[in-house]
Amino acid sequence: MEPPIDSRLHGLKPSATLAINERTRTLRREGHRVFAMGFGQSPFPVPDPVVKALRSHAGEKDYLPVAGLWELREAVAEHHRRVDGIEIEPEGVLIGPGSKELMFLLALAHDAEILLPTPCWVSYGPQARLAGRQIRLLETRFEDDWKLDPGLLERHCAEQPGRARTLILNHPSNPHGGAYTLTELQALGEAARRSGVLLLSDEIYGELHHQGAHVSAARAWPEGTIVSNGLSKWCGAGGWRLGTFAFPRALYPLRDAIAVLASETFTSVCAPVQYAAIAAFRGGPDIEQYLAHSRRILAALADPLVARFRQAGLAVSEPLGAFYLFPDFSPHAAALAARGITDSVALCDRLLEEAGVALLPGSSFQRPPHELTARLSYVDFDGRRALAASQDTPLSQPLPQGFCQSTCPDVLGGAEAIVDWLGA
Ligand code: PMP
Ligand code: GLU
Repeated sequence: MEPPIDSRLHGLKPSATLAINERTRTLRREGHRVFAMGFGQSPFPVPDPVVKALRSHAGEKDYLPVAGLWELREAVAEHHRRVDGIEIEPEGVLIGPGSKELMFLLALAHDAEILLPTPCWVSYGPQARLAGRQIRLLETRFEDDWKLDPGLLERHCAEQPGRARTLILNHPSNPHGGAYTLTELQALGEAARRSGVLLLSDEIYGELHHQGAHVSAARAWPEGTIVSNGLSKWCGAGGWRLGTFAFPRALYPLRDAIAVLASETFTSVCAPVQYAAIAAFRGGPDIEQYLAHSRRILAALADPLVARFRQAGLAVSEPLGAFYLFPDFSPHAAALAARGITDSVALCDRLLEEAGVALLPGSSFQRPPHELTARLSYVDFDGRRALAASQDTPLSQPLPQGFCQSTCPDVLGGAEAIVDWLGA
């Protein structure tokens, strides 16, 4: 007998990011050469003091409080104060098994329409759907550096005033690396406040702003913003599964509702990981150095990629943070159509089959299917080796010529393979 599957799951497949990771691994196991530019995870190792802290707490075996270990909640609040300049009480911090899970619980708990500026991260839409929420896509444009127009937000909300809504804003952005300025965030915060929209600001790549100049959306609209963060990106610990939400006081009822859901589902996050995360969020000179080198390497790598793609006629914006590019292949639309490629899924399938480059289609990021966009992650290199090499050059100086070629050859090789395949 066919087991009945809930209708909310109809048509949903495993998340595109995780699926491309598994497909890439399988192809490699079978002996194919693949440039792994599909999945996006930090190439860098977890900083030593954080690994040491995990080791020394391996014996922690008790269940921890649902909202998280108190010392960790304090460290996260202090981190937001120090790094982002925002005031969060330890009571306002929730620890979850990845920020992804906390986002899903927010969608379940908050009876609200979910607004997604596109392109946006792959899981926001499916999560909203699984939680039974309505989704409204708010399109942004390459010409505007993919930034959300506050007017568009207000116009949409004016159609049905008084309806509860959550806007999920993510910057630095996955998939294009763009970042908002304080002035832009203030305009968005104003529009959100006037329209009664709650802001979920996904700042998981904040510490990976290439110039260390990330601005938290909570600086623009503290009382209406939940800030999402975690260990996965800036601390290289995606597989440790620890994410954080920081709530302002006015939103504590939502914090409490999420804690109920947490208590009935995952209980609390893995104890040794929570103890280790205290060391990560408290920071210190080793972690500062690690971050400064990580940022410098990512920034140095973005330059030749953007230059090469632009030279090949692709439209691509310059990333200010994170480790993604979102090139638009439409200047080559006619030549691609002649090869039978008219949508982003076909573009990525053919790039993988014919050039051995794994990318993710723009449609996975809620872009229209026939827009020829794709997300490229530039993380296919040995981050430990790159960090060690970067340490040979003082941070006050630029990395030497040839640094990217010698430490990240497959990233440059992947870009070259794309350009060759295009015949550009
Ligand atoms: N938001 C964005 C934009 C991401 O890229 C990721 C990475 N998976 C997440 C949230 C979730 O990260 P995690 O669950 O590992 O905290
Ligand atoms: N954030 C990563 C990406 O966008 C993958 C991890 C995930 O999707 O959970 O590729």
